Amino acid sequence: MLEHQDRDRRLLPSVHSLLHNEQIGAKAGRMPRAFLKNLIQQTVEACRTGGTTEPTQVVEAVLQQLQKLEQPHYQRVINATGVLLHTNLGRAPLPVAAMAQAAHIATGYSNLEYDVDSAKRGQRDQRVRWLLTLMSGAQQALVVNNNAAALHLILHTLASGCQAVISRGELIEIGDGFRIPDIITASGAKLREVGSTNRTRLQDYEQAIDTNTALLLKVHPSNFRIVGFTRQPTLPELLQLARRRHLPLLYDLGSADLSACSHAATSNADLRPATMLASGVDIVCFSADKLLGGPQAGIILGKNALLQRLRTNPLFRALRLDKVTLSLLEWVLQQKLRGEAGQPLPITEMLQRPTSELRQMGKELIHGLEAALMKWECQVSLVEGSSSMGGGSRPGCSLPTLLVQVSSTRQRLDQLDRHLRQQPQPIISRRDGGLIFDLRSLLDRSELQAIVRACRQWQPGG
Ligand SMILES: *Cc1c(COP(=O)(O)O)cnc(C)c1O
Repeated sequence: MLEHQDRDRRLLPSVHSLLHNEQIGAKAGRMPRAFLKNLIQQTVEACRTGGTTEPTQVVEAVLQQLQKLEQPHYQRVINATGVLLHTNLGRAPLPVAAMAQAAHIATGYSNLEYDVDSAKRGQRDQRVRWLLTLMSGAQQALVVNNNAAALHLILHTLASGCQAVISRGELIEIGDGFRIPDIITASGAKLREVGSTNRTRLQDYEQAIDTNTALLLKVHPSNFRIVGFTRQPTLPELLQLARRRHLPLLYDLGSADLSACSHAATSNADLRPATMLASGVDIVCFSADKLLGGPQAGIILGKNALLQRLRTNPLFRALRLDKVTLSLLEWVLQQKLRGEAGQPLPITEMLQRPTSELRQMGKELIHGLEAALMKWECQVSLVEGSSSMGGGSRPGCSLPTLLVQVSSTRQRLDQLDRHLRQQPQPIISRRDGGLIFDLRSLLDRSELQAIVRACRQWQPGG
């Protein structure tokens, strides 16, 4: 094996020779040599592990890496999956006007931590904290990098070295392999699990509490639902217990609805921080880029005394928000605060899109696709279906929607799918039986037209 590797290494062109290769030099242009050398070294190493030793192939690999640098990696895509808060697709799309305002502020100097009236130092998060208290009735608010950071800060401050009691039914994975129990442990708190996956009683909490218990933690099961033989204590029951034992109750909501109206398109009674805080929950935390429709951030609401402790934890400084995010968050909260008069957020518009509009969009899309796809033995139809919130929001809750379904052979649909993903603005559809475009998660008519255009250009091979 080792001999093998030595031989491979001898066969591989040297970094030095590649640095002087004419093709590579032409492609690299005026890229500083030190950077080019690093790129060549990385590529040669990847070729060696991949078993490629042929010099022309190695040169080709370097040229490919250089080609990549000519295009941005982050791209706008069209989300036709029907998952409105798709974590892999960046969760909530941000309002154009919010971005414009943030761009104006952030491309110059700003009053981020400067009070213009007094010419003294100001607090960077004062404005968003105020808006959040107005919208939730909370005594105090705090904003950090994301909800995982919020949880980390809270547990590190209030429960480090002590027990945090949580039901086994709420030890969820929040995505990408990160689990609530790991976040608790990483914060220095000791996880005290109670009950079983499907059933936890108030007694289980009661018996777990001892002198080393710092808080009770409740986690919204935002991305799954246990059905059947299940039981969890109600929130009022947990609250009573927390009061009786003089312990704070922390509720990780995951996603939250900060709107004032209770007649929203989806009933979000279980995701309203205002209700939770009014009923006595000490701290709630949630993501700003889920149902709220804002930028990535974690929001913490709750009792003054507790949040004051969070604020003075040195860890808070490591998790603070930047000027762009703060400006975006202010814009979003400001619009929500204005109620009906505020500009609607993209996520709210999609959530509340009426069936009549979905139908109209569906007709338009079918009309455009029939001519483009029928000649390739594809059938196109408008069918009823459901969209989902995704992003760990609202498990089991599905929104009725209309879908444009393309049916054909598996091979044809695979080809079409690939073609759509290779567009300058990739189109991500849902594969579920046929190939599906969910009309609810499309942002606007221009995205319909982009789908039609891409399908018209398609020429299946083989
Ligand atoms: C999404 C989610 C998190 C993680 O939030 P991020 O903002 O992605 O860090 C934590 N807890 C729950 C219940 C969630 O749904």
